[in-house]
Amino acid sequence: MIQFTNVSKIYSNGARALVDINLKIDNGEFVFLVGPSGAGKSTLIRLLFREEVPTRGQVLINGKNLLRMKEREVPHLRRNIGVVFQDFRLLPSKTVFENISFALEVIGVGKNEVKNRTRSALDLVGLASKENVFPNELSGGEQQRVSVARAIVNNPALLVADEPTGNLDPDTAWGIMDLLYNINKRGTTVVMATHARDIVDQMQKRVVAIEDGKIVRDDQRGGYGYVD
Ligand code: ADP
Ligand code: ADP
Repeated sequence: MIQFTNVSKIYSNGARALVDINLKIDNGEFVFLVGPSGAGKSTLIRLLFREEVPTRGQVLINGKNLLRMKEREVPHLRRNIGVVFQDFRLLPSKTVFENISFALEVIGVGKNEVKNRTRSALDLVGLASKENVFPNELSGGEQQRVSVARAIVNNPALLVADEPTGNLDPDTAWGIMDLLYNINKRGTTVVMATHARDIVDQMQKRVVAIEDGKIVRDDQRGGYGYVD
């Protein structure tokens, strides 16, 4: 489903974030991206949902070349990719329900279906009772659950997450990992950049390690493998 072929990303300030990356990720995989700060993990994640485009090489998602994709096709791509960030990025003036339903309304889903799908996403993340609350009334872990619900409400084939547990204490982090694990079990591909050693070591999923913009390790079932 995801194929990077000789992908390089050089930012306009000259930073060589990714250098000649070749990577293939199949449907349904769970992949951790690990590596030191500045290695290129976020850049790789941002290429996946076309927040950035590669300087060289080709990023294919389900056969679609993201570089050649027209601007008007980008919303359609994004609809099929859920994104979770370290800092949640919820809209502060919208309720929990609205933060999630928004993603459906913008694509023209009917009112009743919006309600049903939003509620079922909220059920999945265990926040059914909080639908009318505003983000700042929630704990960090709850806010991240809302952002996971928002990411999956469209039933995306791919969920990408950039340090989703980076702002959470270990117990809360495991709650989020539980959600991602179950979302992956239902068939969604998950790609997650992380520094959470314990999580990577315990889950024994595919681990792609990046250093200085290059893939230095790709283990089918691996551990964190860094001292940092
Ligand atoms: P990581 O997520 O592993 O910390 P990043 O992908 O954020 O790595 O960064 C890789 C390199 O690219 C770093 O040298 C970083 O400073 C640089 N970089 C990242 N984003 C930008 C940007 N928007 N503009 C310029 N340089 C960037
Ligand atoms: P993360 O901790 O998720 O890896 P970073 O700290 O690398 O994120 O980057 C945080 C934000 O700052 C990103 O949105 C990235 O685009 C931007 N950024 C990172 N490095 C640079 C840089 N050298 N120049 C400009 N923007 C940067």
